[in-house]
Amino acid sequence: MSGEGTRDAGTRGRGDAETGDAGTGDVETAGIGPLSASPRPRVSASRPLLVQKFGGTSVANAERIRAAARRMVRTREQGYQVLAVVSAMGHTTDELIDLAQQVCERPDERELDLLLSTGETVSATLVAMALKGMGCPAISLTAAQAGIRTTRFFSRARITDIQPERIRKELAEDKVVIVTGFQGVTEDLDITTLGRGGSDTSAVALACALGAEQCEIYTDVVGVLTADPRLEPRARKLDRISYEEMLELAQLGAKVMHPRAVELGELYGMPIVVRSSFANTPGTVICRGEGMEVRKNVRGIAHDTDVAKITLAGVPDRPGIAYAIFAPLAEAGISVDTIVQTASIDGITDLSFTVSGSDLTRSFPLVQQVASRIGAATVDAADDLAKVSIVGTGMQSAPGYAARMFGALSEQGININMITTSDIRITCIIQRAQVQQAVQTLHAAFELDRE
Ligand code: ASP
Ligand code: MG
Repeated sequence: MSGEGTRDAGTRGRGDAETGDAGTGDVETAGIGPLSASPRPRVSASRPLLVQKFGGTSVANAERIRAAARRMVRTREQGYQVLAVVSAMGHTTDELIDLAQQVCERPDERELDLLLSTGETVSATLVAMALKGMGCPAISLTAAQAGIRTTRFFSRARITDIQPERIRKELAEDKVVIVTGFQGVTEDLDITTLGRGGSDTSAVALACALGAEQCEIYTDVVGVLTADPRLEPRARKLDRISYEEMLELAQLGAKVMHPRAVELGELYGMPIVVRSSFANTPGTVICRGEGMEVRKNVRGIAHDTDVAKITLAGVPDRPGIAYAIFAPLAEAGISVDTIVQTASIDGITDLSFTVSGSDLTRSFPLVQQVASRIGAATVDAADDLAKVSIVGTGMQSAPGYAARMFGALSEQGININMITTSDIRITCIIQRAQVQQAVQTLHAAFELDRE
């Protein structure tokens, strides 16, 4: 696996390292268009619109940029209008962040967003030049020119509205329009960014706002896989997956798509296709679950190696304790994942929870302070953990998945530290050293290597 995936070890598929803070919570919706998925308004009755998003590795150098441009030309020749959304070239965003930190320890948020937005501007303009060089009419637009309005939360802005008149006008003039991904503009015309990996969200939002036929996400892997192929070489590409399943996988560390993009796709019923820009393969379609072929109940194994656990032992079991522990963490912007409280004996209980490994150093002292205040006996931390999950919508109607998962892990002598579930997911926290073994054994136990 190369390129977009290299920075982040705990991912699957393309492992787009840039996904970063997923930003869950409300889906950005306002102003993007009517909520009903069908019938979507077409840009023009005769020529349907395709949105094509190219990630960092797909525009990493001049050759890749020309390849992306050629693909747009071919799509246009097939009778489509093309709206391309591009990421910054290769590792540009990382490099810009690094540079900012060299001039100042805590770069100003507004300036940082304006700086980072230049990465996407570079690729958009180059793609437009490549297209024109091929004789294809084209124009690049920044997010401000494209009418992508956002909130004012720099580095994690949310799209509030898209005013696509300029894009419509350029498309109507038969141009391929290239819009910078990842960025937007506030009411005061300040440039914002949507959070790492946000170009996916830009692309899906534009596809929804303009009533595209589908939104294609071009990347450096063949699609969404049943597991991270770096851990399980038998991982298979899925032809289709539901929004729900993809969202669980994306939030669990499968960085193939920005979760906010999947949420938007689901809300508007926009089909999203994840496919390779390095090959001509069909990829994976992310779409609604209904009407999908009868399929296995478990669709994929996700894992995340960036897991740390904090345990408070001997905690008095009375109202307000959980609040006392978690409020300071929330205030510090630390998100807590799995929480387990044991049954209390004589009014005393143990409480464990996980945070991401990178948040441990900030979390631990906060919890220590609370612990002494509430009279907990001890606080411990472990930073050598990982999370492995099975995901599939079929699980909600069929029993026995948990037992099969725990059985497979126990056969391998893998101890389960904590367990959490949702309707369509079971997650176990285990030792990090055993994560590959766990992924492989679950992949086999749920027969994911077979069609
Ligand atoms: N260039 C941005 C990043 O690296 C956005 C993106 O690629 O989606 O996070
Ligand atoms: Mg990305």
